[in-house]
Amino acid sequence: MGLDDIRKRIAKAEAEAGRPAGSTTLIAVSKVQPLERVEAVLEAGHRVFGENRVQEAQGKWPAFRERFDGVELHLIGPLQTNKARVAFELFDAIHTLDRPKLATTLARLAQEMGRCPPLFIQVNTGEEPQKAGVLPAEADAFVAEARALDLPVQGLMCIPPVEEEPSLHFALLAKIAARNGLDGLSMGMSGDFERAIAQGATHVRVGSAIFGERDYG
Ligand SMILES: *Cc1c(COP(=O)(O)O)cnc(C)c1O
Repeated sequence: MGLDDIRKRIAKAEAEAGRPAGSTTLIAVSKVQPLERVEAVLEAGHRVFGENRVQEAQGKWPAFRERFDGVELHLIGPLQTNKARVAFELFDAIHTLDRPKLATTLARLAQEMGRCPPLFIQVNTGEEPQKAGVLPAEADAFVAEARALDLPVQGLMCIPPVEEEPSLHFALLAKIAARNGLDGLSMGMSGDFERAIAQGATHVRVGSAIFGERDYG
């Protein structure tokens, strides 16, 4: 299975970057994967998972949670405001706070429920029109806006453009986080998580390198 290999590669990347062992959280991205594969990774003792669709996560994780203790679920895909309440109940962290309307919705829910999962603000580092996230130039203002709403902003998240060297995007995200006093950096996927760790990633989101290719059938 890919899990052991990925864990070793993460440890090596941490050592090479002069970072403490275990300073990177591995989010195993289980979207679309057959349940047997997810179960195998749970059986191997892994507990931190990522899903990009609220509904898909709702369909599979309550049952897994009954069987496995300590599951930590991260939302890494876009969140519609009408699904925010369900997301609050299901997820332990949300990586895709990307607009003011979602911020006010989450703040209202946090008030009502007396708690809020840690949040990452998604930054569209490549300024791609089709991609979610605040623009780099608007990031500082949006971080301030979220904080003014008392939202627990833990860090920033990005998905670099496929055609570009991701390290530049990771470095940009790290710079924006540093100047805003944010520790969390959700960046790096199957193809580039080592480069993300070199740039300070605290959370890498790795799917196919652990589970195998996704079959969208
Ligand atoms: C699917 C997905 C991943 C994982 O991608 P892999 O290339 O399979 O590792 C990471 N982050 C986000 C936001 C995703 O949607």
